[in-house]
Amino acid sequence: MSQRKEKITNINTISANIDATKDVSFDNAKTCSDNKTLLIKSNLDELYAEPKCELNYRSPYELLVAVILSAQCTDKRVNIVCSELFKKYNTPQSMLTLTQEELEKKIHSCGFYHNKAKNILSMSKQLINEYGGQVPESLDKLQRLAGVGRKTANVVYSEAFKGNAIAVDTHVLRVSNRLGLCKTDNPLKCEQALMSTFDEKDWGKLHLQLVHFGRYICKAQKPQCENCKLSSICDYYVHIRHNI
Ligand code: SF4
Repeated sequence: MSQRKEKITNINTISANIDATKDVSFDNAKTCSDNKTLLIKSNLDELYAEPKCELNYRSPYELLVAVILSAQCTDKRVNIVCSELFKKYNTPQSMLTLTQEELEKKIHSCGFYHNKAKNILSMSKQLINEYGGQVPESLDKLQRLAGVGRKTANVVYSEAFKGNAIAVDTHVLRVSNRLGLCKTDNPLKCEQALMSTFDEKDWGKLHLQLVHFGRYICKAQKPQCENCKLSSICDYYVHIRHNI
């Protein structure tokens, strides 16, 4: 079985165990025509030829900590907090010289600081005990670390190790639904639909492109539809226009 098929089969198994009652419809993972897919891809390539992760990091460990801190927090805030934190505490060993209370104070402004501090310390211990202090390059191993869910593992896997993965965050989920790439509020099913629709080699880049597109153009509250070249094939825009 190819790596791509294996990943989609794995995610199908996970998805089957999830309550799908919120889905509008999800009969077929591939909801998007080939022409529409090509148009979306070429437009995103035009807008974001070389998209970059907006979190600052110098090592897989720094990225992992930053992604854990970014839950329910802006990248800008995480970068401010991490620029101070990483001056002294940018390895699992140095991080573990902090008590939970001390770490909580340093990351307080990122929100959910109690759980985030607890997870960062547990994850750092795991890295030392199980992986010689290194962040593992395997998606499965990443997901077994404390505080690391599927989205975080996918971000680290694709960004730090250039693995093929699509992390589905709030921007990717919203944009994918609006464009009709999927019709679900379940991130796993969205990920499955995107993996089925786009070439595996493009997954990591696509994640970053959709994040940028969602942050700056297809915003949650005020999407810039009038300036969007994808409006002609956008389900959300067509729906809005029909209701004006
Ligand atoms: S037309 Fe509007 S809703 Fe559709 S993708 Fe563009 S910005 Fe988003």
